[in-house]
Amino acid sequence: MKTWIPDARNFAYLNWKQVDALPREATLLVLPTAAVEQHGHHLPLATDTLINNLLLGRALAKLPAHLSVYALPPVHYGKSNEHMGFPGTLSVSAATFMAVLRDLGASIASAGFQRLVLYNTHGGNTALIEVMARDLRAEFRLRTFTVHGSAGAHFDGLTPQERAYGFHAGEIETAFLLASVPELVDRSAYTANYIADAANPGPLLPENAPATFAWLTSDITTSGVMGDPRPATAENGARWLDQGATRLAAALDAMLRFPLSPAP
Ligand SMILES: [Zn+2]
Repeated sequence: MKTWIPDARNFAYLNWKQVDALPREATLLVLPTAAVEQHGHHLPLATDTLINNLLLGRALAKLPAHLSVYALPPVHYGKSNEHMGFPGTLSVSAATFMAVLRDLGASIASAGFQRLVLYNTHGGNTALIEVMARDLRAEFRLRTFTVHGSAGAHFDGLTPQERAYGFHAGEIETAFLLASVPELVDRSAYTANYIADAANPGPLLPENAPATFAWLTSDITTSGVMGDPRPATAENGARWLDQGATRLAAALDAMLRFPLSPAP
């Protein structure tokens, strides 16, 4: 898998004596979580993992060199059962995913590290990330943090419909890849579908609402796309990547400064 993580920020490039020399309370370890799953006819299976690496690599490059912040090797496989039935999707169960995070948390805590970030770029993992952040805090006393996707960056130029329901292989993801790995995007194979209509919301929404319906991708679309990739441009992708990385870098900086103990 390609990586944009600066070599000096890659935890797995250290030897154990170098790891042992890191300041335990003042080191932030970032565990990327993503997926290997269908992304329509036009994007590769690794899309969520590539985007995670692009945003995190750019964010780490923005941090001052003296800060002790490292990217752990990513958890490539996610809970992707919403995309089963589309060849190429490689999914792990919720129990497996949580067990992997629990075991990695145990390893990190046993080495004495205290600050762990779960950086997730696949929506199917989101609920499990929130569960495990609290469980790792409770079981190992790790100070755990979560951050998702573009860390709340507000991208200009999106329609309200795409902003609300460009869930998967839509304009943003396609633009990110056009800006960074255009050879992996098949521009001749775009399809567009939406899971809901932002202009006419009914009483049930797909997520982030008081009343929701559980969905599988195959309920919505035969191509696997939920969003509209057609307006995507490399220029927008490059600008949005930088905006997302700036927000992510600010979140990481705040996590590194977050007090480990309650105020007296
Ligand atoms: Zn995706």
